[in-house]
Amino acid sequence: MGLGSGASRSLNFGAGPAKLPTEVLEEVQDEVLSYLSSGMSLMEMSHRSKEYAKINKDAQDAVRELLNVPSNYKILFIQGGGTGAFAAIALNLINRTGTADYCVTGTWSEKAAKEAAKYGEVNLAFPKPKKLGNVPKQSTWILNPNASYVYYCANETVDGVQFHYIPETNGVPLVTDMSSSIMTENFDVSKFGCIFGGAQKNIGPSGVTVVIIREDLLGNPMKICPTVFDFTYVDKEKSIHNTPATFSVYVMEKVFRWIKKNGGVSEMEKHALAKSHLLYSAIENSNDFYSCPIEKAYRSRMNIPFRVGGVNGNEQLEDIFLKESEKIKMYQLKGHRSVGGMRASLYNAVTYEEVEILVNFMKEFQDKYENYK
Ligand SMILES: *Cc1c(COP(=O)(O)O)cnc(C)c1O
Repeated sequence: MGLGSGASRSLNFGAGPAKLPTEVLEEVQDEVLSYLSSGMSLMEMSHRSKEYAKINKDAQDAVRELLNVPSNYKILFIQGGGTGAFAAIALNLINRTGTADYCVTGTWSEKAAKEAAKYGEVNLAFPKPKKLGNVPKQSTWILNPNASYVYYCANETVDGVQFHYIPETNGVPLVTDMSSSIMTENFDVSKFGCIFGGAQKNIGPSGVTVVIIREDLLGNPMKICPTVFDFTYVDKEKSIHNTPATFSVYVMEKVFRWIKKNGGVSEMEKHALAKSHLLYSAIENSNDFYSCPIEKAYRSRMNIPFRVGGVNGNEQLEDIFLKESEKIKMYQLKGHRSVGGMRASLYNAVTYEEVEILVNFMKEFQDKYENYK
């Protein structure tokens, strides 16, 4: 499958900013001194130019097409990253009843809940699991029918925990953070009130966050909501209210075209399944030399944490694993500092062949170090 050859490039399993398709970077390279014979880089061009207006619109249209976004939803681009969106969500949506329900299943949803608590009353739908690695059954959640919204993180990038279903909220608007899973699987946008995702995992460079919001949820921001986070205002100004991260949007638009050219989100989903299956199988079939702490039903297709040298990991061996992997140009495999061990991120731009190289390396490493104490 032609998802980018990357002949002389490293194998990048980083969690974000992460690998971008080689073809996209080559296109950017071609245009860096002169965008469409303008004699200027897009970076040097006004955000009020007709060139940028087209990029902005093409990128928004691509989100609509790729994710099948219904016409009663708006597509916005904001700055401030995923973390900025944690605040923006509450600032725009919590005003209705002053309270919101949060599902804490990992690092990012916990941060989102803390941020929202600055602006309203936050209830946890279930107590934070003592050991992260699963999602409590929905029948055990306690949801407030009067909540302004219910929030969850579709894929916990740090912890490797992913929802493989959409929670039922009985009419309360559902909000989700898809920073590390947007454009990796098909889903029904109409089940959501609001979806957001920072670009730097699957869809572009850092600097831009995509927000998809149902029209009827606009128009009720808190008085203190900063202008740049006011979804109603951002929508009115077509996401060019102030200087956007023009370069990031420009590259993101190219990534969207690359996704379309490679079969759209359905094809990304097939790839994500195949790649993650390959790596999880290698972990499962290693006789506990490698281990993944996440319950099978909630394992992420994007971010796969694993330990080396036994179920609880062997830190010395993990250091050796990292050093040896870097010798063959495999980078950014170190797990998040709060979790330890390894983490392989298999975003859209990472090819099946690259995961095969990782898995082969893992087998050879096990043969060599199986009896390491
Ligand atoms: C990376 C990430 C964030 C934070 O994004 P920043 O742009 O660094 O603020 C939030 N949520 C998820 C799920 C992420 O993967």
